[in-house]
Amino acid sequence: MTEEIYRTLLLNSADAVIVTDKAGLITTVNPSFSRLIGAEEKDLLGQPLSSFIDMSNQEENAAGKHPIPPAEPAPDDELEPRPVTVLTRAGSEFVMPAAQFPINQKNGDGKNCSHLTIVYVIQANSLQQAQTEFVSTVSHELRTPLTSIKGFADTILRAGDRLDVNQQRRYVGIIKDQADRLTRLVEDILAVSRLESKKLQLTIRAIDIKEAIERVIQNLSDKGKNHKLLVQVPAGLTPVWGDSDRLEQILTNLIDNAIKYSPAGTTVTVTAKGIQGDPELVEFSVSDQGVGIPEEHIPQVFSKFGRLDNPLVRQTEGTGLGLYITRSLVLALGGQISVSSQPGNTTFTVKLPASTLEQQAARGRD
Ligand code: ADP
Repeated sequence: MTEEIYRTLLLNSADAVIVTDKAGLITTVNPSFSRLIGAEEKDLLGQPLSSFIDMSNQEENAAGKHPIPPAEPAPDDELEPRPVTVLTRAGSEFVMPAAQFPINQKNGDGKNCSHLTIVYVIQANSLQQAQTEFVSTVSHELRTPLTSIKGFADTILRAGDRLDVNQQRRYVGIIKDQADRLTRLVEDILAVSRLESKKLQLTIRAIDIKEAIERVIQNLSDKGKNHKLLVQVPAGLTPVWGDSDRLEQILTNLIDNAIKYSPAGTTVTVTAKGIQGDPELVEFSVSDQGVGIPEEHIPQVFSKFGRLDNPLVRQTEGTGLGLYITRSLVLALGGQISVSSQPGNTTFTVKLPASTLEQQAARGRD
């Protein structure tokens, strides 16, 4: 009975399942794997799995380690799906998530045993779909400013002499604003692509958070000239152990949003402090007295192009990528980000690793 359940599951699973012996040769495949590779079961059995799946990660490939030895088992705590390259019979290559599990493991030795490999086809398809949706949203977002640039440039060209100087200046002003918007969009899209391809270069050192906050506030002083910007950082706070450019980018995005989404005349407060009972983390938060984010929309604000529909958002410029980038940067620095919000008060809180005295002594302070 149990065997029948497993066989039915294997035969009907949309994910591809392969069993290999300790030499890395295929002993069992399910129909989904045959479909994926474009070969019949009989042509797959007995072949090395490494002819069809390159289990090494992409960075190692780039470093010239391709192809890898067969069935290198992951340590137990690394059984998370990771990207692998699937090579089909027709010669196409796909990067898909897969995981490999030791089976028939004797004496706890993960190397000399059989393996069960799962290629997560469903997840790969939804990643592909997300990518297609991203491209289509990006194209739409790029087209809006482009249409406006083209429209106003055409008008100036066609009706140039009939436009008075003020009209001409206004139209050129619109073209410039839209070109600036395009630049911001392209920069944000590049930042997303760098983050997603894990090509982010980090320079980690101890950073004085008070100085970082003050630098960011200085840079945003023009945007924040109608707000009261308050900084509260206790003297002698442990430095953050991170990358100072990325930390300033995180602070800039959060403070810029706090200013954008709260009315003129209100206060934006940036606080930093240690965390009681957890000397390994430093916390900072950015609070505003603005429109707030309804609880059910909180997950949306961290997603790509996740702009909410409310009057203040409609009035403000934004790409909807800022918080997605911010969250990815916080995670890349080994931190966490959360938000609590109600009308009249929104607080974004970020926790980042604190630097130890040894790290400060070894690497120097910023
Ligand atoms: P952008 O500001 O470019 O639209 P973000 O990713 O930075 O994009 O923010 C996504 C959305 O989250 C914003 O469009 C806005 O709806 C909401 N949001 C972000 N910060 C705040 C805030 N401090 N108060 C209220 N809403 C906010």
